[in-house]
Amino acid sequence: MDNEVVAGIDIGGTNTSFALVNGKGEILAEGRTRTDDNPDPDPFIKKLAREIRSLLGKNSKFSFKGAGVGAPNGNYHEGTIELPPNLAWKGITPFADKLSEQLDKPVVLTNDANAAAVGEMMFGGARGMKEFIILTLGTGLGSGFVVNGRVVYGHTGFAGEYGHVIIKPGGRECGCGRQGCLETYVSATGIVRTAKIFMEKRKDDSLLRHINPADIDSRKIAEAAAEGDKLSIDAFDYTAEKLALAIVNAIVVTSPEAVFLFGGLTKAGKLLFDPLQKHVDRLIQPVFRDTFKILPSALPEANAAVLGAAGLAWKEL
Ligand SMILES: [Zn+2]
Repeated sequence: MDNEVVAGIDIGGTNTSFALVNGKGEILAEGRTRTDDNPDPDPFIKKLAREIRSLLGKNSKFSFKGAGVGAPNGNYHEGTIELPPNLAWKGITPFADKLSEQLDKPVVLTNDANAAAVGEMMFGGARGMKEFIILTLGTGLGSGFVVNGRVVYGHTGFAGEYGHVIIKPGGRECGCGRQGCLETYVSATGIVRTAKIFMEKRKDDSLLRHINPADIDSRKIAEAAAEGDKLSIDAFDYTAEKLALAIVNAIVVTSPEAVFLFGGLTKAGKLLFDPLQKHVDRLIQPVFRDTFKILPSALPEANAAVLGAAGLAWKEL
């Protein structure tokens, strides 16, 4: 039916965004609410359901199918949010069941990076692809692996935590309690760590030395690199090499048609993609050479997370 809609919901540490999305991936109405810092998630779930019902109420022509949710530490199998690192909710929240009760419609839930994978598959650059990987390079590194048209969730529901594959034993300390995880090198925060290490170890001048160290972020490094700043260019090259290593390792496992990159760090464009392709070409196992593309995500950055969550609902409900 033409007037059918789902709600896509992206739960973030500070804000939760939601939208009514049709089967073509068009956003018909949207809203945003603060993610409560209340340790009890129930009032938040009630508030969210109320706001979604109010969006629907203003548009009574819609036929509402249900909702898809992308959440940190979302467990697809159980519909739960488990020990989320940046939310106040403790323990395991049966979020999908509780929201479904409030909305009186089915609700599906997954983690945010897997939602991005579904969004890319339904509405983005992976339309028509059955084998691809998406890596989201934000504060951390998230990933979604799609094999034979399905997101790989694994036995626990948590498969695809590629940000925590160890690429350097004994390397940088990670928030997960271990050392040398990919995301400590390849993420918006990882490249800042790299640049600061370079600034300490090296003597050459850099544009970065002329700004307050607390203000150095991935965007400032990209701006400096774009102006030809050697240290910043080297920081991108180092990041790209680590990312290339992670990509060629993943290629060996699933042999995808494409690897999509999404998130803040990819805004650097050629500064990241050019050295990345160079290192991938150098490191790739010959049998996989030129068998896959590395592409920026085709989803609009501002709406990608709610579109991914909506895509999940469209795919599964
Ligand atoms: Zn880790």
